Amino acid sequence: MSRKLKGIAAAPGIAIAPLVHFHGTLDSIPTWKVAPEGVDAEGRRLDEAIAAVGRSIVALRRELADALSNHDARIYDAQVSILNDPTFRRDAVREMTLHGCNVEVALQRVVERYEAVFQNMAEAPMRERAADVRDVGRQLVAALMAKDRSKYTAHGRDYLFAADEFLPSDAGILDRAHLRGIVTAHGGKYSHGAILARSLGIPAVVGVDDLMSKVPSGTTVVLDGNSGVVIVDPSAEELAQYQLRLREQRGIDSRVAEVRFQPAVTLDGCEVSLFANVEGVRDLETLEAEVISGIGLFRTEFAFMERRQFPTEEEQVAMYRRAMAGSRGKPVTFRTLDVGGDKPLGYFRTPDERNPVLGWRGLRLCLDWPDILYTQLRAILRASALGHARILLPMVTTRSEVVRCRQVVEQLRQDLRSTGEKFDENIKFGIMVEVPVIVPVLPEILPIVDFVSVGTNDLVQYLLAVDRDNQRVAKMYDPFHPGVLRVLDQIVRATQAVNKPVSICGEIAGDHYFTPLLLGMGYRELSMAPVFLPRVKLTLRSFSIAECQTLAQQAMALDSTTAVRALISDQVRERWSRFLKAGPEDASA
Ligand code: PEP
Ligand code: MG
Repeated sequence: MSRKLKGIAAAPGIAIAPLVHFHGTLDSIPTWKVAPEGVDAEGRRLDEAIAAVGRSIVALRRELADALSNHDARIYDAQVSILNDPTFRRDAVREMTLHGCNVEVALQRVVERYEAVFQNMAEAPMRERAADVRDVGRQLVAALMAKDRSKYTAHGRDYLFAADEFLPSDAGILDRAHLRGIVTAHGGKYSHGAILARSLGIPAVVGVDDLMSKVPSGTTVVLDGNSGVVIVDPSAEELAQYQLRLREQRGIDSRVAEVRFQPAVTLDGCEVSLFANVEGVRDLETLEAEVISGIGLFRTEFAFMERRQFPTEEEQVAMYRRAMAGSRGKPVTFRTLDVGGDKPLGYFRTPDERNPVLGWRGLRLCLDWPDILYTQLRAILRASALGHARILLPMVTTRSEVVRCRQVVEQLRQDLRSTGEKFDENIKFGIMVEVPVIVPVLPEILPIVDFVSVGTNDLVQYLLAVDRDNQRVAKMYDPFHPGVLRVLDQIVRATQAVNKPVSICGEIAGDHYFTPLLLGMGYRELSMAPVFLPRVKLTLRSFSIAECQTLAQQAMALDSTTAVRALISDQVRERWSRFLKAGPEDASA
């Protein structure tokens, strides 16, 4: 019987192969007593190991130089600096002197201590250093034991790498010719392993609870790095479905380069604006401003979550200016702080809630703590002098919330004018449609906003009453539900009636199976993680608007999610196979 496990989608793509367990080498190490006069000799062994590991990290960095961006390659520089840190060596020697242990044991203890310190730090990047220290420790122990960490291989067969975590040094010993995907029990979307997997184009799912105990080595697994789903022992039907998607993906990958710089226009010449979702300043470093229409969603809360305390106004201004510079004059949509729910802020303790996603989150929280909102809005306004900023409010539930926020913005504008501080007088002010009740009252709210962005991740969870992060009901979280489609249609109609721009910034904007439906309803702005842009662009270039309209009407009239999926999959696959045979310019042939 097939089983579905849910993890975090860390690197996109589909992979089907047997999963193979791999383990590190810090677990079983030799132990012996070292007399005081023997410590110097152990110290020399350590120096030799440090030199050897240093050489191998530099070699690995060089080997991966073409595949990794400069930024991602710096992960290895961080490891070299840990290795060469005199305090690290001093601590290991002190451990040997005090406890009369061999260098392997000393290293194990020192590494554990360093890890604990990093893990307790509030900032995510610092916590990430714990994995680097562990990785350096593993490599040193392997070098000391003269163990050549042989390749992670399934002896010439395709495989999925499975481990508690994926560490930077693992990238060097993977059998990349046969590696199809990575799945780990720990790690987050921003763990170094996840960043490397994305950079190397290897599909990955991380954070799958109890992976190593639940899924034996050798089990066939489908890994969906787009949705974070791992299917263990897939049924024949699931296998066939994913094999098809895999073939599609291979075709798509080889064509991606071709469409990157082509315009996002449908077969009948309708232009679609494709925006990027950004989850913090780190994403800006890899953003290709020339291929996007702007940043459609800057999730500012991630920058807040990585810190130990609220960023000051000046710090925020600097961050928002960086985003404006990164988008090279194109619009940047700053969503105000959306913490609470599944995104707690370590330094701002909120009471435990029974239903946090229905609780004190997003705009509700900010309106109760006006200082947070004032500071952020003021910083966005100040940064807006540099270009084209937009303000976006999350989790709006009532019109009065919007009125209050507008008043705050107006007050801030007056203050800035009185002090001669520059800002964009025409800055646009929009709301997210995520709380279902906002949909029927849009006609009353639209006159007081400049644009609307539909946050389908939350909207779908609230419409279906299915927690978006609960793996037990993950199957029921299906945005293709005809009821969801009808609500999306209602939203676009309400905005068209008053001629206000509307975009989608939830994950469905990056799902190319959804593209024809959204275009058919009338959406012309889609904002997604940049990695999904090429597929969406390829898809929209193979449909005309009239075809999309017919499809959307048919889909909305259906009575089940399965029927909608079948209809749309047939259509998209058919375009894809035509496209893959003919080439991007002849998709309609
Ligand atoms: C959404 O809910 O669709 C959205 C874009 O916001 P987030 O995923 O950050 O909740
Ligand atoms: Mg949301």
